[in-house]
Amino acid sequence: MLTRISKDFRWEMAHRLPFHDGGCRNVHGHSYQMWVELTGEPDAQGMVLDYFIMKKLVDPLVAEIDHAFLCDRTDTLIVEFLQASGLKAVFVDFPSTAENIARWFFERLSVLFSDMKHLSELRVRIQETERTSAEVWGKL
Ligand SMILES: [Zn+2]
Repeated sequence: MLTRISKDFRWEMAHRLPFHDGGCRNVHGHSYQMWVELTGEPDAQGMVLDYFIMKKLVDPLVAEIDHAFLCDRTDTLIVEFLQASGLKAVFVDFPSTAENIARWFFERLSVLFSDMKHLSELRVRIQETERTSAEVWGKL
C-alpha cells in the first residue's frame, strides 16, 4: 500500500529579498523548518525508507546553509559585502523566497532519491515563519 513518510530538518539562515517593497528587503533571518516527505511502497520490514538514510542524505545540504547568508547572485550590494567579509554565504541563481528554496531542495533531493525505484513521489515543504510555508512536489 502506498505510504508517505516525513522527517523535519531545521536550520538558521539569513537572507533578504532585494525586490521586495516591505520588510523582506532588509537583511534578516529565519529559523527554517523543512519537511521532506517520501511516498513509496514499504519494504518487507515495513519501511518506505530508513529515516537514518534520509537524514544522512539531507543533512549535508542543510549543513551547507546553516548559519549562512543565502544570497541571490544578482544582489551585488550583498554579494560584494559577503565576499569581502569572508562570512559564511551560499550564492544562488534565484531570489531566496520560500518557494524557490523549496524548489531548490526538491531538485537536489530528487537526484539523491532517484535510484530508489520503490519511491514514487517527493514533497518538500519549507516553513519560513510560524504562519507561512511553501511546498513543492513531484514524481521521482
Ligand atoms: Zn525572510
